[in-house]
Amino acid sequence: MKGYAMLSIGKTGWIEKDIPACGPLDAIVKPLAVAPCSSDIHTVWAGAIGERHDMILGHEAVGEVVEVGSMVKCFKPGDRVIVPAITPDWSALESQAGYSMHSGGMLAGWKFSNFKDGVFAEYFHVNEADGNLAILPDSIDIATATMLADMVPTGFHGVELADVQFGDKVCVIGIGPVGLMAVAAAAIRGASYIYAVGSRPNCAQVAKEYGASEIINYKNGDIVEQIMTLTSGKGVDRVVIAGGDNDTFIQAIRMLKPGGKIGNVNYLGEGDYVRVPRTEWGCGMGHKSIAGGLMPGGRLRMEKLASLVESGRLDPSKLLTHKFNGFEHMEEALLLMKDKPKDLIKPVVIL
Ligand code: NDP
Ligand code: ZN
Repeated sequence: MKGYAMLSIGKTGWIEKDIPACGPLDAIVKPLAVAPCSSDIHTVWAGAIGERHDMILGHEAVGEVVEVGSMVKCFKPGDRVIVPAITPDWSALESQAGYSMHSGGMLAGWKFSNFKDGVFAEYFHVNEADGNLAILPDSIDIATATMLADMVPTGFHGVELADVQFGDKVCVIGIGPVGLMAVAAAAIRGASYIYAVGSRPNCAQVAKEYGASEIINYKNGDIVEQIMTLTSGKGVDRVVIAGGDNDTFIQAIRMLKPGGKIGNVNYLGEGDYVRVPRTEWGCGMGHKSIAGGLMPGGRLRMEKLASLVESGRLDPSKLLTHKFNGFEHMEEALLLMKDKPKDLIKPVVIL
């Protein structure tokens, strides 16, 4: 089969591989639509997970099941499925402790294009099909459904980590596709005011459509000062970080009220330490908590998020700015994600 792969750090290309084998608990899936992600870019061009050779890229897909293992109970060939980017081992102790994304080790629930070939292929392998696949409802089109694999669950997880409560004032730092889904999730959770930080005009427009009250442009001066002006000097109850760099934590802590919470889903690619401003952290006694996490993955989460789309409460299709028809456009779509033209939010490739 054909796949679009990381050949080595900084290099990608088409390769030929055998169709993966199906274990007793697993499924083999043929993709119907796939989307490249900022994480694919970090993997190839920032060497985020170290050197990989001829590893097929991609972890965002919906597809059709072509084979299931002898012990799979809930799926059969022909089923159209949503495949989460994170596919944990559900019997691992970490999963039993509530941290499925770390099943088998830190971040090890992330398998596609990390420990094994990803979804930019004619076929791909899904471990523990019953725990990790979800039936794609007929009412959700395949392009929109690809956003359920990673962008929706990651943005929503940021809001879970920040523990947004109704009436909270929330700042979402970063309004690429992940941050935009955090804006939508904060609105669904009942935030009173949502301050969205970004600079690209089309992202700002979509953030407003998802429920942002104000857009803060980080290129127009200190975002903490802008937040303080908007909140009469009080700050916000919650911060979700979906963009920026290590120093974004400093800003998040400074804009947070005592007792506030930060939920980070942003990938921190550089430096050895993340700094915490001592005074604004209450000299260690400010009850300002920081949680950072990979999204949990799994079937239940996919079904619940798909249900939000089915009911009309969430419309992830606003993220899709660039649509390609045909697998041959895979490279073009991936490079768009790398170059991030101003009008891009998220590309999708329909196979
Ligand atoms: P994008 O690059 O599309 O968006 C990043 C956002 O951050 C943009 O709105 C950008 O603004 C903004 N930004 C950049 N620099 C700053 C700054 N200094 N201060 C404030 N805002 C800033 O990324 P994605 O939405 O695709 O992904 C976001 C992050 O989530 C990435 O790090 C990605 O790796 C990570 N991720 C994490 C996952 C998880 O499970 N935890 C899963 C998937 C992704 P603008 O461009 O408008 O100037
Ligand atoms: Zn992704």
